[in-house]
Amino acid sequence: MNNVPDAEGVLVFAEQNNGLVHPVSFELLGKGRDLADRLGVKLSAALLGHGVHKEALELVYYGADVVYVFDSPFLSMFDPVQYAKNLVRLVTETRPAIFLLGATRLGRSLAPRVAAALRTGLTADCVDLDLDENGNLVQVRPAFSGNIMAQIKTKTRPQMATVRYKVMKANARDPRRKGKVIVKEPEVLSDTGIQILEKTAVGGVNLAEAEVVVSGGRGLKSPGDIALLKELAKELGGVVGSSRPLVDAGWISRDHQVGFSGHTVKPRVYVACGISGSPQHLFGMRDSDVIIAINKDASAPIFNVADYCVVGDIYEIVPLLVQELRKLKAVKNLDERK
Ligand SMILES: Cc1cc2nc3c(=O)[nH]c(=O)nc-3n(C[C@H](O)[C@H](O)[C@H](O)COP(=O)(O)OP(=O)(O)OC[C@H]3O[C@@H](n4cnc5c(N)ncnc54)[C@H](O)[C@@H]3O)c2cc1C
Repeated sequence: MNNVPDAEGVLVFAEQNNGLVHPVSFELLGKGRDLADRLGVKLSAALLGHGVHKEALELVYYGADVVYVFDSPFLSMFDPVQYAKNLVRLVTETRPAIFLLGATRLGRSLAPRVAAALRTGLTADCVDLDLDENGNLVQVRPAFSGNIMAQIKTKTRPQMATVRYKVMKANARDPRRKGKVIVKEPEVLSDTGIQILEKTAVGGVNLAEAEVVVSGGRGLKSPGDIALLKELAKELGGVVGSSRPLVDAGWISRDHQVGFSGHTVKPRVYVACGISGSPQHLFGMRDSDVIIAINKDASAPIFNVADYCVVGDIYEIVPLLVQELRKLKAVKNLDERK
């Protein structure tokens, strides 16, 4: 579908997991709605899975005009070949000008296969999307280690982009919205070369969903000191994050890394302990609601984005915070027992 002049409309891939739509899809619909309205075109969503009809309406409530549902037991688990085959067919049939997917693990595996089959360009890991004066999609993504924001346009159609989770805003759910749900007959390949034996949960931390993140950086002196952060995270009901050097040193696993080459987080509270605030780190956390930074260097760049700046040693401040939080909890427990 290279250079198709009559391509029109915005299509969003609605990722689902165990039959529930992933929130990144609602965020894409929020941005997709804005783009579609400005272009005066329809916003569609493609939902693939098994027993997912109920979720199709959710996509309408979050902004879709049309939802294409592909429902089959063969689509219940993510097989990139089956999924790509059906999406390529849908895109060829409906000719959207813009096609958006989440930059999740699943989206990152699926999007390049679809783009290659459609012989179109793909901009990965976008953090913003806009339109130029001619209605072409302007895809914004960090480049040169996150030091600049590149604006990329695709000459071919559809203009495909994957978008990072937690960087776009979903519209408010509106159950009065009306849309069309179109059930498509899935094309199922008998042998994709992939046999899915079982699905096992990957342990580790879910940074993207956390309400509180307590992150540590090179201000820590040894891997054992991560226990300090764990204690504070526990008291605040949060999880532990980190800057990249701790991951590179093997002190903590990569799923804890916040930043350009790690996760984007938007918690209610982000506590940065001994982190300088490099552009690559700020990229992943600067949209947090409240940022508390603890650093012994008053000129550390992290203080430029922090709401609360604590100039001090993490080895003094963090234990004090833990102690105070425990005291507060003890008082609260006493009050509740009265
Ligand atoms: C392509 C690329 C991708 C990258 N991606 C990422 C990414 O995703 N995430 C990321 O974090 N980085 C990333 N980086 C690395 C980034 O450039 C920085 O090197 C890194 O963020 C610095 O980590 P830091 O703040 O922990 O360490 P430093 O910059 O060394 O800062 C340590 C801070 O701790 C303070 N400190 C020291 N001791 C104490 C103490 N006892 N108490 C209080 N404060 C103390 C110091 O004053 C200093 O400000 C990337 C780099 C590149 C090139």
